[in-house]
Amino acid sequence: MENPLCGAAFLKPETKQLAEPKPNQALIDAMTKSIDVSLATCWSIPDWPKWRDAAHDVKAYTLANLDKLLAQFADNLEAKGVKVLWARDAEDANKIVLEIAKENNVKTVVKGKSMVSEEMELNKAFASIGVRALETDLGEFIVQLTGKRPTHIVTPATHLSAKEVGEVFHEKLDVPFTEQHEELTMIARHKLREEFISADMGMSGINIAMASTGSFCLVENEGNIGLSTTAPKIHVALMGIEKLIPGPEYLPLFLNMLPRMGTGQKLTSYTHIFNGPTEGRKLYVVIIDNGRTRALAQPRHRKVLHCIRCGGCMARCPVYRQVGGWAYGWVYPGPLGIVLTPQLLGFEKAGKLPFASSLCGACSQICPVKVDLAHQIVRSRAESIESPASPAHSIAERLLWTGFVWMMKKRWRYNMAMRFVKIGARFAPLLPYHPWLMGRWTRGRAIPAAQKEGSFGKWWKKNHKD
Ligand code: SF4
Repeated sequence: MENPLCGAAFLKPETKQLAEPKPNQALIDAMTKSIDVSLATCWSIPDWPKWRDAAHDVKAYTLANLDKLLAQFADNLEAKGVKVLWARDAEDANKIVLEIAKENNVKTVVKGKSMVSEEMELNKAFASIGVRALETDLGEFIVQLTGKRPTHIVTPATHLSAKEVGEVFHEKLDVPFTEQHEELTMIARHKLREEFISADMGMSGINIAMASTGSFCLVENEGNIGLSTTAPKIHVALMGIEKLIPGPEYLPLFLNMLPRMGTGQKLTSYTHIFNGPTEGRKLYVVIIDNGRTRALAQPRHRKVLHCIRCGGCMARCPVYRQVGGWAYGWVYPGPLGIVLTPQLLGFEKAGKLPFASSLCGACSQICPVKVDLAHQIVRSRAESIESPASPAHSIAERLLWTGFVWMMKKRWRYNMAMRFVKIGARFAPLLPYHPWLMGRWTRGRAIPAAQKEGSFGKWWKKNHKD
């Protein structure tokens, strides 16, 4: 399966966008509004820090016992007549889902939003066997019409203004242009309604799975998940292995945290709990690893699997707000993507991502389940540089830093090096061309002129005689 992180093209768009940022005002406005509303809703709970601690502890317990809890979840599902299937990676998961589609002679699929299905590039896989898959979440529906990836994990079309959505609908759906929110929603509603009724199969992700009862929960605001999972006769739910909690006693905690940080709501408009197939219907649950056990096996990165996909860290991240989701090259953008993508795909494909951060630490502060994102970003940088297959692994840079350490160990070496730097700084602006990294740096910047007073040491001696 074609992976967008493979090949020489990877990170070129990111590099370009970081070098020549064109801030997207719709994205900046949406993120600013979203974070203000979310924080107010979260902190309206007086014990919010304790809730965060509790959610963190539940997730830590779950991950420490994941093998047993997953087995318990699967056994309980099967006892209710649910068909449980296990996928090692995205390719495996696609094979399983396509097999289900073929067995049931499926021609059309309606899909609720699922980031795992984005990992799998499931729509492409469906197209390869002639199955038409339609995204039914409003944001995903818009993004699918544009033929691009979502830019955010909760609000996929957040980069588009109402005017731009109106233009997309006008062009792709052949309807009169409008930029009125209600009218745009009604157009999508009208187009999607018939699809729900006629689809052969419905698909969804899973927000929270409960091991002790073999049930799972989906939250939404639009009603499309309810229709996608109940109108067709077959429902296939995709789940990453980390979506589990031990049992329903912890469900209210996560049902509160996810929408409060995700959309600033106390609860989502709809909460669905699935307890097995109803009569005459089929329910499949596909449990997917796709690199997650790699993170699970590393104590330094395990906490990234606490993530409940609320999107809060993206809204808070100064880099994400400038560059948007596509710049991160794959499914998960922002601080979450920086940490998770190298774990899922390996540093050889995503080794540059950990460097797309200002390291301000705002993401760690905001995360409702206390994923230590900032620390993980720093660790990922170190690991990326150490990993020989990573594009961030540079022998030249290693030599440079070894030389720097050698220089800093003796005062005379430092002084001598500074003399060379001064001479270089004086003559560099006169040169027509600067080689290698220097050239990249000076393309958009002027080299600062050396101080006339000489070195910092001389200045210090002159001004601090006592
Ligand atoms: S890492 Fe934390 S803040 Fe970011 S999406 Fe996951 S749960 Fe939300």
